[in-house]
Amino acid sequence: MAPVDWPLAIKPLIKKYCRVKHPLNYRNPFELLVMVVLSAQDSDAHINTIAPSLFQRIPNMAALAKVSQSKLTQFLKGVRNAVKKSKWLIEIGKSIKLDKNIPSTLDQLVLLPGIGRKSANVFLRETKRKPEGVIVDLHVVRVAPRIGIASGTDPKKIEQEIMKKLPQKYWDAGMAMSFLGRQICRPKNPKCPECMMKRVCFYYKNQVPKK
Ligand code: SF4
Repeated sequence: MAPVDWPLAIKPLIKKYCRVKHPLNYRNPFELLVMVVLSAQDSDAHINTIAPSLFQRIPNMAALAKVSQSKLTQFLKGVRNAVKKSKWLIEIGKSIKLDKNIPSTLDQLVLLPGIGRKSANVFLRETKRKPEGVIVDLHVVRVAPRIGIASGTDPKKIEQEIMKKLPQKYWDAGMAMSFLGRQICRPKNPKCPECMMKRVCFYYKNQVPKK
């Protein structure tokens, strides 16, 4: 089997999704940062439902720095790991203090509690910064090995493999694969016949009966 020209193969997918906003309904970088912390091991849809009342009470970094942990935990009722996340968010508020001080590089972002590479990469993408890595969420962990651009289940290794196969200008491929995973490449019964990646997809090639 001829090796896949990944930049060429992935380009249409990136083009399809490059202007699509992340499913978290944030209105500014402060809300985005808080919501990426809250969405870890929870769903974007759920965090979107609690966000309006949370941001009515905590509208900015200065308010976050001042709120008590018991109060914030109360506002996060129903969010998975609410106690731990409220502690992280208050630490973030106290260290950043004002919205204008929110970091703008991956190295600085991952120093914040509750922010890993995935969240930092999402933050950089949504704030229109140059990608410094590739977003690898649970959808990408499923989709990338199916397509064949990466292997295994370790998000860090998957990210490194994708970064090696694609030039930096194509590192939005992570978010594109995440959207593909949400809409088409579902865990059960992926909709392969309508998928734009089927011509190169390793999983699909192995499903189609050989002639
Ligand atoms: S062809 Fe099928 S398995 Fe491959 S990426 Fe598309 S939906 Fe997923």
